[in-house]
Amino acid sequence: MSAAGTTGGSPYGSPLPPAGPLTLWEQRWHPLREEWVIIAAHRQDRPWTGEKVVVPVEATPRYVPDCYLCPGNARVGGRRNPDYTSTFVFDNDHPCVGPDAPQPQAPPPRPFRSQRAHGLARVICYHPRHDLTLAEMPVEQIIPVVQVWQQQTRDLGARPEIRHVLCFENKGEVVGVSNYHPHGQINATNFVFKTIETELAASQRYLHETGRPLFADIIAAEQADGRRVLYEDEHTIGFVPYFARYAYEVYVAPRRTVAHIQALNGAEVESLARALKDVTVRFDNLWRMPFPYVMPLHQAPTDGGDYRAFHFFIAFHPPLRQPNLLKYLAGPEIGGGNFLSDTSPEEKAAELQALPTTHYREAQPDS
Ligand SMILES: [Zn+2]
Repeated sequence: MSAAGTTGGSPYGSPLPPAGPLTLWEQRWHPLREEWVIIAAHRQDRPWTGEKVVVPVEATPRYVPDCYLCPGNARVGGRRNPDYTSTFVFDNDHPCVGPDAPQPQAPPPRPFRSQRAHGLARVICYHPRHDLTLAEMPVEQIIPVVQVWQQQTRDLGARPEIRHVLCFENKGEVVGVSNYHPHGQINATNFVFKTIETELAASQRYLHETGRPLFADIIAAEQADGRRVLYEDEHTIGFVPYFARYAYEVYVAPRRTVAHIQALNGAEVESLARALKDVTVRFDNLWRMPFPYVMPLHQAPTDGGDYRAFHFFIAFHPPLRQPNLLKYLAGPEIGGGNFLSDTSPEEKAAELQALPTTHYREAQPDS
C-alpha cells in the first residue's frame, strides 16, 4: 500500500513545488500555548521513502477471553471485572501515580527537586463490547462516558492531595495502545500538567488584558470564519483550530465557558456526546479505518483557585497525516518546542467536512 508522495527518490532529491496561492506557508500564533506553529503546506507532498505505519483493519470480536478490560475477565494480580453493562472504572493495575507511591529517596542537591508520585491512576472502560469505539457507539452510550468524566473529575478533584484531574484516551497502536477495547484513562495528580499550566496562564493574561475569556474569542473567530467548523449546535462546537499543530487536529468544546466538565448541564452533556460521535465518525470515515488519536480533556486545576478564565475543551491529536504516514516529532518539535505542520488546517477541515456522518461500518452497502 503506498500513500501519495511515496513514489521513491531521496526526500531531498526533487525540488519542492513553488509556494503559490494554492499552498499555505506562514506561521500561526497558538494563543493557548503562546507559541508559533510553522505551517509549510507546500511540503506535504514531498517524496517519502521512510517507514510506513500499517494500521490493522481486521474484524474485532465482541468479546475476547484474555482481554483484561472485557466484562467478567481477570486482570493482572487476579482481580476480576464485574459483568458491567455500561461504563466501568477501576484503579489502574500499573499506576504511574498512586496512593502507595514511596517517599522519595534522599533529597537531591540543588537545583534538583523530587516529590512523592502521589495520586490516583484509573482506567475507564467505555463499553462492555470489545469491538466498539466511541465512533461506533450510539450517542446514548457516549453520554455515560461523559458522565463518568464528570463524576471522576468531581470525586478525585475533591481530594485534598489532588491538584488536577487529567482524563484522556490513547487510541491505536501508533500511540502505543494494543488493546482495541474502548477505554480511556485518568491521572489525578498532586501537580498540574504543563499544558494546562500554560493554557491557564495564557487565558488569565488574555482575560486581564481584554476583559474577555480567550477560548470564547477563539470560538467566535472560528464561527466568523466558518471554514474549519465541523460540528455546531446550540451547546457545542467542533473545529480544526486555525493554529492546528497536527494535520487532523480537532477541538470539541462547550460554547459556554466552564472550567471543568462537571459544570455542564444535562443538555450540554448530550450535545457534547453528539459532537464526539460526529467527529470520531468523520475520523474513521476518512480512510475507512479506526482512526488513531490522543484525546485529552483540558480542564482547570481542582485545587480551589480562581479559574474563571479557563474554558474546558476536548482535543483530538491524531498522529497520522496520511493513511500510513506518521507525523514525526523531531528537531522543531522536540528540539525547539514548536510544531512544524506540513498541512493546511483549512484543507484538512474541508476533507473532514465532506465526509458522511454515518460510520462506514454502520452504513448499508447499497446506500
Ligand atoms: Zn475487551
